Amino acid sequence: MRRHPWVFSGAIQSIEGDVAEGDLVNVSDHMNRFLGTGHYQPGSIAVRVLSFEREQIGDSFWKEKLENALALRRELGLAGSNHTSMYRLVHGEGDGLPGLVVDMYGKTAVMQAHTAGMLRSAGEIVRALKEIMGKDLKAVYNKSLQTLPGRMRESHRDGYLYGEREEGPFLESGLSFLADWEHGQKTGFYIDQRENRKLLEKLAAGRKVLNLFGYSGSFSVYALRGGARVVHTVDSSRAAIEMAGENLRINPGFPGQHEAFVADAMDFLKNTPGTYNLIVLDPPAYAKHGVARQNALQGYRRLNQAALEKIEPGGMLFTFSCSQVVSREQFRRSVFVAAATAGRPARILYQTAQPPDHPVSLYHPEGEYLKGLVLSVD
Ligand code: SAH
Repeated sequence: MRRHPWVFSGAIQSIEGDVAEGDLVNVSDHMNRFLGTGHYQPGSIAVRVLSFEREQIGDSFWKEKLENALALRRELGLAGSNHTSMYRLVHGEGDGLPGLVVDMYGKTAVMQAHTAGMLRSAGEIVRALKEIMGKDLKAVYNKSLQTLPGRMRESHRDGYLYGEREEGPFLESGLSFLADWEHGQKTGFYIDQRENRKLLEKLAAGRKVLNLFGYSGSFSVYALRGGARVVHTVDSSRAAIEMAGENLRINPGFPGQHEAFVADAMDFLKNTPGTYNLIVLDPPAYAKHGVARQNALQGYRRLNQAALEKIEPGGMLFTFSCSQVVSREQFRRSVFVAAATAGRPARILYQTAQPPDHPVSLYHPEGEYLKGLVLSVD
């Protein structure tokens, strides 16, 4: 009734008929009043609601939802832009399509189904995408192996649902990046850090920058365009560091120097001599579930403390958490404890979040996951 799109299994009194994983089901309240229609998924979140109206979930439903999603990205200056060709077209609940993510890379859409229902709807989704995007769509890649519920993964194969592989590079803010959705992390690129990368560019001039958890080196490329003197990129994945090297090669012409290291971030902080004027900390989600929250907060504290100890007075820290179960307040508190323990005065300059192509429904606060603080450290 409050339009939250999840129905938890414990809230269900009875199920009528034979219902299988991925089926479309209607949800009614105890007075038998219609509440919505959604995908059924055995597990804690039993139904993800697609519509609160009585309507057919058919071709016109998918077309309308995807058209709305595309219209928003056009208004945001992302779809149709000639300097950015990577953006999120569908962000699950934030676009009224719980369980579905679609990221655009040039003319390729990379979709991720988080539920059986969305996987089963892939045919309709591809049809609708082709219809609304026309010649701007050449391929659809289904990358759901990482996102489907565990037991469904055995029978699933990732692959093209339409078209074939498109080689990059792709553009973000006029910079070029490779994105490998077939082998890379997420859908191939951390699209969600775009606005934070722009902010880094603005603040990087003349600084010696350390980009920890750098993945494809995207923050590093922005830092160099922003006039950073030296940039070090660190990631524990060799494949990531190789991609970072390529991304630096295809964006030539920035005078600053770059070096990349395959290393554990904490080891690098502890064992590398010297200090930095700006450090980026963008670790993977430390907690995927509430039970792991305390450990995650400890992890953020230790990591931020180690980074703060390596920042010169007058330096900056860009620190992020993408753990959905860690709240903005909890994250900020662990960074505060880190600064206090390191004995460093620090001020918050910016509090950042996920960009607007990752919208958060007001009715679904769980959709907010990316939190960032930009600190000035004395
Ligand atoms: N900042 C990146 C995204 C980072 S994702 C961007 O904007 O593109 C997190 C990265 O941390 C991944 O590339 C992963 O390989 C790396 N990673 C995970 N554990 C690590 C560790 N202990 N030390 C260093 N890197 C690590």
